[in-house]
Amino acid sequence: DNPDQYRPLSPEELAERLSTVPAIAGRIGSDPAGWQVKEVGDGNLNLVFIVRGPKGSVIVKQALPYVRLVGDSWPLPLYRAFYENHALVRQARRDPGAVPEVYHFDETQALIVMEFLSPHKILRRKLIDGETVGGLGGFLGRFCARTAFRGSELSMKSADKKADVGLFSGNVEIPAITEALVFTDPYYGAEMNHHTEGLDPVVSGLRSDARLKARVQRLLMKFASNTETMVHGDLHSGSIMSTSDESKVIDPEFVQYGPMGFDLGMLVANFLMAYFSQPAHRYPSELAGYQDWLLSVIDEVFTEFEAEFRRLWETERTGMLYPAALFEDQGQSSADACAALLAEIRTDAHGFCGIEMHRRTLSLAHNADFEDIEDTVLKRRLEARNLEMGAELVRTSETLGSTERLLDLARRFNAK
Ligand code: ADP
Ligand code: MG
Ligand code: MG
Ligand code: MG
Repeated sequence: DNPDQYRPLSPEELAERLSTVPAIAGRIGSDPAGWQVKEVGDGNLNLVFIVRGPKGSVIVKQALPYVRLVGDSWPLPLYRAFYENHALVRQARRDPGAVPEVYHFDETQALIVMEFLSPHKILRRKLIDGETVGGLGGFLGRFCARTAFRGSELSMKSADKKADVGLFSGNVEIPAITEALVFTDPYYGAEMNHHTEGLDPVVSGLRSDARLKARVQRLLMKFASNTETMVHGDLHSGSIMSTSDESKVIDPEFVQYGPMGFDLGMLVANFLMAYFSQPAHRYPSELAGYQDWLLSVIDEVFTEFEAEFRRLWETERTGMLYPAALFEDQGQSSADACAALLAEIRTDAHGFCGIEMHRRTLSLAHNADFEDIEDTVLKRRLEARNLEMGAELVRTSETLGSTERLLDLARRFNAK
């Protein structure tokens, strides 16, 4: 075995190959004969193993040199593990306790050893199963606010932030996936697209709307060229793990510098897709109550995002932007400037939200919320609501304004 050369792990070989890694042996027990290894990767890209020993358990995540969902015909650089590791370290600093702790990183093997979250379950699965999670919206709103604010020049020294933008700009192939699959493919007949039978009229409605496509491209331009902050980049309900009252964020390999509203928009889109798919997953007697809960989570996400952002604005504005010398030191408040910035972030988030709702039903990599629906007629009806609301969000993102109006829109499309 040549440790200088990358080789994907297998459950059979893992104990032997990683037995001397102190970060694992020290945590789970040093005799690899007592280790149990299980591959649990259910994502689209990587290998993920749970390694259990007499003293405890860890997660080993290893990148593969291709897209797992598609196969080795679609190569993907191993260096994304390097960026995922750097992202996890920064997120842990900016929002302590929000992400699994990294115990060890091996760049050659593109491998991260991290905290095993247990009994946490993937949030998307919990939402399909009709489970609630205490404090969910507050946690996610704070996570988005803290990472957005503390990863920007509102908080960071200009030189540090620019160095970090330089570091992460090496992560090219991964953002390119988002640029194509999320922002572009849904809006034309791209090769890897697929959608549910019977949706064609709705889909051609989107694709024949040049103004809508221009707005989407404007948002893509922001996504690609705006380096406001370090974004998670893939903040959907499959990148969140929860118990009944605690949540963590995982899988930031799509990290890049981008607009502050990006993670927020993606996240809210995934709650809206959970909402629209519910009629297929709940008994009628539970439906309205559970859908109301999902909308209340969205409300909490925005409320807590803005409250936490304002709090950080008041207490941690230590970077180059909006210096106190321009405001407070001259006896003026900067609260209006903060409110204006929050309104812009919200506008961007609405647009990104609508686009994410489109890509998950039209492009590659659909989500289980809709894919698990066996009744094609029902699936099509629910996906149509989702697509139409997404289009409305892209079209009206600048004027929509409040969360209440966003939630009203969701209720309106849900009743169609
Ligand atoms: P991918 O990048 O391939 O999507 P993820 O990081 O999302 O990989 O991990 C895939 C799956 O592995 C998750 O859906 C989850 O079930 C499991 N998993 C990943 N990280 C952890 C963790 N720290 N603790 C427990 N389970 C995890
Ligand atoms: Mg994942
Ligand atoms: Mg991933
Ligand atoms: Mg599909």
